[in-house]
Amino acid sequence: MHRLYETNDIVVFWNSDKCRHAKRCVTGSPKTFDITRRPWIDVTLAPTAEIWQTVSSCPTGALTCVYTHDIIVEIHEDECRSVAYVRSGSTGGEADTKTERGSQNGDVDNIYEGEPQGGIVGRDDTPDDRIQIGECDYRDTPDGRVIYHTEVSPAYGGKSIARRLVYKVIESAEHAKLPIIPTCSYARKVMEE
Ligand code: SF4
Repeated sequence: MHRLYETNDIVVFWNSDKCRHAKRCVTGSPKTFDITRRPWIDVTLAPTAEIWQTVSSCPTGALTCVYTHDIIVEIHEDECRSVAYVRSGSTGGEADTKTERGSQNGDVDNIYEGEPQGGIVGRDDTPDDRIQIGECDYRDTPDGRVIYHTEVSPAYGGKSIARRLVYKVIESAEHAKLPIIPTCSYARKVMEE
């Protein structure tokens, strides 16, 4: 099971396959991690620093955490994709020299070089005050949900945006009880990590 929990500041990823119930999270931030509650993680109930420190102490890597960098990631099930936006005027965090890897249709990397023109960035269908900077695309088939494309503008690389996009799609598939078929190499990597 893959889940992500978000505030304006941070995103916490949880992969239940790796959770070995050492319960360090429960003692580190008891309001955030409460195994008697559903959902058992609520990242709005404690200070960011406390949650970050607790996530960092997870011994198995079941919990990981990144800053949002003021980037919004949403699932659009009617369009069969998750989408990442930055608000116009926002820098989306400090510039980062590391390029986040997105992939398309199997193992073909699909990373914009230089300033993208007419691609995912600034699509016409984005809300007025937002600029689209990434997306993860899927289609639902009789065999399951095929995730076939993940892409993030390189100007926003190194911020785990692609991972957030894939997690949104996986989480939605799991809620719908659909098997996941990642033909996108990046989505496959996220599922295997
Ligand atoms: S500390 Fe990590 S492995 Fe242990 S219960 Fe919490 S999430 Fe699971």
